[in-house]
Amino acid sequence: MSDLIQLLPDAIANQIAAGEVVQRPSSALKELLENAIDAGATKVQVIVKEAGKQLIQVIDNGKGMSATDARMSFERHATSKIRTSQDLFSIRTFGFRGEALASIAAVAQVELKTRRNADELGTLIHIEGSEVKKQEPVATTPGTSVSMKNLFFNVPARRNFLKSNPVEMRHIVEEFQRVALAYSEIGFSLMQNDMEIYNLLPGKLSQRIVGIFGKNYQSQLVPCEELTPHVNVKGYIGKPESAKKTRGEQFFFVNNRYIKSSYLNHAVSNAFENLIQPDQHPFYVLFLEIDPSHIDINVHPTKTEIKFDDERTVYAVIRAAVKQALGAHHVVPALDFSV
Ligand code: ADP
Ligand code: MG
Repeated sequence: MSDLIQLLPDAIANQIAAGEVVQRPSSALKELLENAIDAGATKVQVIVKEAGKQLIQVIDNGKGMSATDARMSFERHATSKIRTSQDLFSIRTFGFRGEALASIAAVAQVELKTRRNADELGTLIHIEGSEVKKQEPVATTPGTSVSMKNLFFNVPARRNFLKSNPVEMRHIVEEFQRVALAYSEIGFSLMQNDMEIYNLLPGKLSQRIVGIFGKNYQSQLVPCEELTPHVNVKGYIGKPESAKKTRGEQFFFVNNRYIKSSYLNHAVSNAFENLIQPDQHPFYVLFLEIDPSHIDINVHPTKTEIKFDDERTVYAVIRAAVKQALGAHHVVPALDFSV
């Protein structure tokens, strides 16, 4: 009997890995936005067609890539962001796995255009299903544009699994909002089917919040800040009267990375106790700054979950910060629970 085990060809290995990274159009958008930010962009344009099923294009004015790096960027585990295992403990960039572009190129038709400022010409690459179809010099503006077309064109089962356009578009808008909130100093625009959804100019966080959620938030924002040796909390909470019965306007960022945490969410709700009804959710956009060695962002492949080594301290600081913000702004109970 001959031996049976073989190494998977790259294209198949990438397609399997893509299952982890790219569940739907919005997860690809997240990766592309994060790459733009990691590249130091100050302006990022997003163009979406058919809720991202037909096209997601992200154009940035960041540092661009050399021709060799452009080709390398599609290899799995290819990254410019970490070099040693020590670096894993002090990650300051979004990316570090070197999997995103390889995964996206495994399950879509990708066109990359990139140019470094100092180079005269840029590089154009077409790649689909992990196969490079074209690589050539191209005249283009400094920065990088990645177009992802026909997501899951070669994985019909997953393409069929995508939800309706309104549902996929909602995920895209959510992802866009999270990144835009975390980087108010960067200009972001979002177009869908040639309609402008957002055009957010660089500015302060409060301006960004108003740009995203609307003018009526202007009068509702209460600044919130608490600085401790272990963790800093900064951002805005909404006044109690702006609390809603639906969720979706609660945002935590840890070192500028959006995270989900029902435990920390509870810390905020708890501070609002008696100011809002138990079934209401306060608006908040809170940024936690914490030494990267005290957190592990690696617990989940899509990286929205996080482990703190001292969760209870973080909880206490957030609760205190919100309580103090409410107190400092003389926010008094608007509701009478005695009746
Ligand atoms: P990671 O971000 O984890 O390193 P990616 O697959 O997302 O992995 O990207 C691979 C590499 O390609 C990055 O490390 C970076 O060097 C380069 N790259 C990707 N997108 C851009 C971009 N928009 N601008 C400049 N370089 C980029
Ligand atoms: Mg990346």
